[in-house]
Amino acid sequence: MALQFDTVVIGGGIVGTATAYYLARAGKRVALVEKGRINGEQSSRNWGAVRTQGRDPSQIQMMLDCLQIWRGIEAELGESVDWREQGQMRVNYDRKMTERSEAFMPIAREFGLTTRLLTAGEVAELLPYYDARDCQSALFTPTDGSAEPEKVAPAFARGASRLGATIFDFTSAKSIDVRNSAVCAVETEHGRLDCETIVLAAGAWTGRLLKPFAIEHPTLWIRGSVGRTGVVPIEMRKLVVWGKCAYRQRIDGKVNIAVAEDGFHDLMLDSFAHGLKFLPLAVRNWQNVRFSLGKPLVQSVMGEFSDFTTHRTLDPRPDWKGLARASKLFLEEYPSAGPIKFECGWAGYIDYMPDELPVIDALQKPEGLFVAAGLSGHGFGIGPIIGKTVSDLICKGRSDYNLAPFSSRRFR
Ligand SMILES: Cc1cc2nc3c(=O)[nH]c(=O)nc-3n(C[C@H](O)[C@H](O)[C@H](O)COP(=O)(O)OP(=O)(O)OC[C@H]3O[C@@H](n4cnc5c(N)ncnc54)[C@H](O)[C@@H]3O)c2cc1C
Repeated sequence: MALQFDTVVIGGGIVGTATAYYLARAGKRVALVEKGRINGEQSSRNWGAVRTQGRDPSQIQMMLDCLQIWRGIEAELGESVDWREQGQMRVNYDRKMTERSEAFMPIAREFGLTTRLLTAGEVAELLPYYDARDCQSALFTPTDGSAEPEKVAPAFARGASRLGATIFDFTSAKSIDVRNSAVCAVETEHGRLDCETIVLAAGAWTGRLLKPFAIEHPTLWIRGSVGRTGVVPIEMRKLVVWGKCAYRQRIDGKVNIAVAEDGFHDLMLDSFAHGLKFLPLAVRNWQNVRFSLGKPLVQSVMGEFSDFTTHRTLDPRPDWKGLARASKLFLEEYPSAGPIKFECGWAGYIDYMPDELPVIDALQKPEGLFVAAGLSGHGFGIGPIIGKTVSDLICKGRSDYNLAPFSSRRFR
C-alpha cells in the first residue's frame, strides 16, 4: 500500500532539507526522498560563503532575512554548523575588478547593506598575515558570514526528522504522478508516496523530472573544484575571501582553497540542447569558462544521466591542475602559511541557469508542484530562506517576497 503524506520533497540538499524542516515545523506530514546520501551533491561541496554582497538585487531582501536565520540556526537546530559572522571579502587586483566592486555600491546603499570598499591598507589590517603588495581594493561586508557545508543540510534533515518528517535516503524519485491536472504522488524506486503537494529541489537533476510536463528548465552543469590543506600554522579570520584564489579557513585550522574564477563546463548532450540560451552568459564570462570534452559526454550519450540511480551522488573529478595553481596563488597572498599540501580535494557540479537566477515557483500546471532549484552557484547562503519561502507558499498560499524574477515561465 502507498504511504500518504501532505508533501513529498525531492532532493536532500540544503534547499530540500530546509523546505522539509519548515514544512514539518508548520505541522505538515512530510517525506523527503534523496537518491543518494543526504547532502551528497552541491550542498556539501561548496565554499561555505553566506553573502549578501555581489548578489542580484532581486535576491537581496531574501538574503538579508536569511542572515537572521543563519544567526539563530544553531539554537534552532540544536547543533553546531560552524556559523561565523566575520564578513565576506572580494579582493581586487586590477582596475576592472575595482570597477565591478564600485558598481555594487549603489545597490548596497539602496538595501542598507554594511558593504564598504576598502583600501589595500584596510585589507591588510583586517587580514593578518595577508601580503597586500598586489592588492588595489576590496569589497567587504562585515555582516556576511560562512558555515560548514558538510554540516548544514544534515542538521536541517535531522531537525525535520525530529519534527516528524520521514527521510528516505538512497531512494530516487522516478516520476511525478498527476490526476485531474494536479499532482497526486511521487513514484520512487522503492514504491509510491501519495501526496497533495510536491517540492522539486533536485539541484542539477531538476530539469529531468520536469521533462514529462514539457516544462523548460535549462541548466548547464559547471564543475567547481576545491582542495583542503592540513592545519596551516597561521590563525586566519574565518571568512570566505575571493582574491587570487578563493579560500576559507575552517574552525579546525585547515584551509579550503578553490580556483576563484574558472568554471569547467564538461560538454554533454544538454550543452547542445540548451547551448544557445547560455550564449549571453558565456560571452560575459568568456575569460573564465573552460570547456572539456571527455567521459561526461560519452556518459550522457549512453543515457547515464537520464536515470537517477546510475549516479547516486555526482562526484566529478577535481581540476587538480587548477588547484595546484590556486595553492601557489594562495601562497602569494599568505607567504607564511606554506608549504601547502592538499589532504583531499573534490569537485561539484553547479546547476547554472542562463540568467544565473533560481527558479522558485508554484507551477500552475500541474497544480501542487513547487520548484526550488537552479541556484547557479550561490544557493548555499540563501538556501535556508528558500526552504522557508517554499514552505510559506504551500502553507499560506503566498510569499513575503516578489518571486516574479524566479518564475519558471521566464524560459518559455
Ligand atoms: C565548488 C562549489 C562552490 C560553491 N560555493 C558556494 C558558496 O560559497 N556560497 C553559496 O551560496 N553557494 C555556493 N555554491 C552553490 C551551492 O552549493 C548550491 O547552489 C546549493 O548547494 C544548491 O542546493 P540544492 O539543494 O539546490 O542542490 P543540491 O545540494 O545539489 O541537492 C540536490 C539533491 O537532489 C538529489 N536528487 C536529484 N534528483 C533526485 C531524484 N530523482 N530523486 C531523489 N533525489 C534526487 C541529489 O542527489 C542532490 O542530493 C557552490 C557550489 C559548488 C559546487
